[in-house]
This record gives sequence, C-alpha cells and structure tokens, in this order.
Amino acid sequence: MNETPNREQRYRQRMQRKKEIIDAAIAKADQEKGLLLIHTGNGKGKSSAAFGMVVRALGHGMRVAVAQFIKGRSDTGEEAFLRQQPDVTWLVLGEGFTWDTQDLAHDIETAQRGWSMARGFLQDPSIDLVVLDELTYPVSYGWIDLAFALEDLKKRPAMQHVIITGRNAPKAFCEAADTVTEFCNVKHAFYSGIKAQRGIDL
Ligand code: ATP
Ligand code: MG
Repeated sequence: MNETPNREQRYRQRMQRKKEIIDAAIAKADQEKGLLLIHTGNGKGKSSAAFGMVVRALGHGMRVAVAQFIKGRSDTGEEAFLRQQPDVTWLVLGEGFTWDTQDLAHDIETAQRGWSMARGFLQDPSIDLVVLDELTYPVSYGWIDLAFALEDLKKRPAMQHVIITGRNAPKAFCEAADTVTEFCNVKHAFYSGIKAQRGIDL
C-alpha cells in the first residue's frame, strides 16, 4: 500500500508550488495608495459591505465620512450605530426615492447641494475613508455631473479611500476605480413576500 505516501507527497508538492505563486504575488503588490472601490449590481450587499469596511477602518483608528445620496429609510441599524462613533461623520444628502419626492427640480437641487458637501470630504486629508452611498443614481440621472465628480475624486488626498455604492455604476466610475465588485442577485426574500427584516435589510 504505497498509494497514501504518494498522494500526500503530490499534495505537498502542489501546495508548495501554490505557496510560491501566492508569495510572489504578495511580494509584487508593494504599493500603497488611497483606493476607489465601486460596489454595483442588482444583488444585496453593496451598502452593507461598504459599512463593513467602515468598521474595519474604525478598528484601525481611522476617520470616516459617510454621505448617503438616497435617503431610503431613516431607521437603519448601521446609521444608528455608526452615528454614535466619534470618528464617524454621517451626512444624509438625499431626501428619498425619486418615486417618493416626485419633484424633479427639487431633486436636482438636492443632489447638487449634496455633491458640494461630499466634495468637502474629498478635500479633507484628515478623513481616511469616504463612503458615497447610492451615488450612482443621481449621477446616472445626470443630476450630478459625472466629469465634475470624477475630477473631485481624482484630486482627493493621495491616501484617502472612497467607496461608491449603487446599481448601474457609470462606466467611467468603473474605469477610474481600483476595485470594482458586481453584486449578483441570485435570490432575494422580498420576492417571496418577506418584508425588510431588522438586522438584515435595515
Ligand atoms: P444592503 O443595504 O442590504 O447592503 P444594497 O445596498 O445592495 O443592500 P440597495 O439597492 O441599496 O441594496 O437596497 C437596499 C435595500 O433593498 C435593503 O433592504 C436590501 O435588502 C434590499 N435589496 C437589495 N437588493 C435587493 C434585491 N435584489 N431585491 C430586493 N431587495 C433588495
Ligand atoms: Mg445600498
């Protein structure tokens, strides 16, 4: 029965090769910079993944700003919790979904006022991470100028990280980004008639 040692030896050799490849890739990634991340797609998890990174950053003593461009609801757990953190600035810039407000001129004005506030974060080197939650919507509608927004993102402090969330991220955002994740919807409880659940959806 010499099958087992051979199998173990082959496994060890394969893992050794894998380790060399991974170690080489880690050694090659030696740069540091402020990253632009995009969370897009129809699947659930875009904003909550961004808030997960907010918690990571806070754990390292970093300062965080969150700007919410669409105010869907005011009772989310992450807002209640993160607003209490001294290193978090939380701004609600939008007023509701477009189908709630139904006032175009007002929505455009709100979005543009919102961007000027967000720009303040992008000009503040003491803020280490900026979350621009649901920014893709006012930009896709043309309420916030895409080129201006890109310019402001480009000029931000070199070590400042930014996360943009929302469906249908404009191509130019994805091209400018360092990390882009497409959240894919396989199934969502809402379509089985289950309302938003505390701790999961809000
Ligand atoms: P989350 O805030 O849970 O991370 P998200 O940011 O990816 O979700 P949004 O489009 O911002 O998604 O919508 C937020 C709310 O809509 C949440 O309550 C979420 O559970 C729900 N939701 C997200 N994706 C879907 C979907 N594919 N179908 C139905 N409801 C969804
Ligand atoms: Mg979201």
